[in-house]
Amino acid sequence: MRPKIAAGNWKMYKTFDEACELAEAIAITQFPDNVQVVLGVPSLYLAEVQEISHKNNRIDVAAQNCYFEKSGAFTGEISASMIRSVGVMHVILGHSERRQYFGETEDLILKKIKAVLGEGMTPIYCCGEPIEVRKVGNHNSFVEAQLEGSVFQLSAEEVLKLVIAYEPIWAIGTGETASPEQAQEMHQAIRRAIAIKFGDDTAAKIPILYGGSVKATNARELFSQSDVDGGLVGGASLSAEEFIQIIHSF
Ligand code: PEP
Repeated sequence: MRPKIAAGNWKMYKTFDEACELAEAIAITQFPDNVQVVLGVPSLYLAEVQEISHKNNRIDVAAQNCYFEKSGAFTGEISASMIRSVGVMHVILGHSERRQYFGETEDLILKKIKAVLGEGMTPIYCCGEPIEVRKVGNHNSFVEAQLEGSVFQLSAEEVLKLVIAYEPIWAIGTGETASPEQAQEMHQAIRRAIAIKFGDDTAAKIPILYGGSVKATNARELFSQSDVDGGLVGGASLSAEEFIQIIHSF
């Protein structure tokens, strides 16, 4: 049985006080027993949000990025071990905004995945196609090529420690959501590709989240798809009220 996961990605939003207020509002909420909540917060707030989240044992905190080296002269970067040192156990990696604005490649993402796994933490690996690829129907092969460059370079044992987020770029922050059928089709294709590479047992255990304009109004239908194990939620995770509704949509 795979876990159900509602993960928020706060991106570069919220002041310190606003972030604490949002975390507090979520931390005092009771969630359904089978749902794990992850808050992807700006790195500056990780320690504080982690502290606030201690109130609720169903919440994990995630960084939105890290560097692959453990330590050293890498001005402006933070390492997986630094993130772990404040008690945070998840890192979002390969988000399309990191790929688009910061030139992240599968090679680099693979190094980051290994660094995060090396600390005993959970990478939340993001993949997904741009609109041009979707329009010509090459979305399956595009996402498979992404997986081939990073996730498929890992061992089956390592892959079992991942959470995968399928996030079609055309649906991120656009208000345009993949239909439940489109999401299911791609999640099934991802799971099948993992099964071919690592075996059915491994594929059956990996949580695959959908991301791309998930809202309180569409979460239930998306999450009801058999291969959709939850969501990675951007904009709608910035409102406690809406994110809590999403958490209750399984
Ligand atoms: C995201 O940031 O990963 C995301 C899916 O954003 P949004 O929900 O705003 O589309």
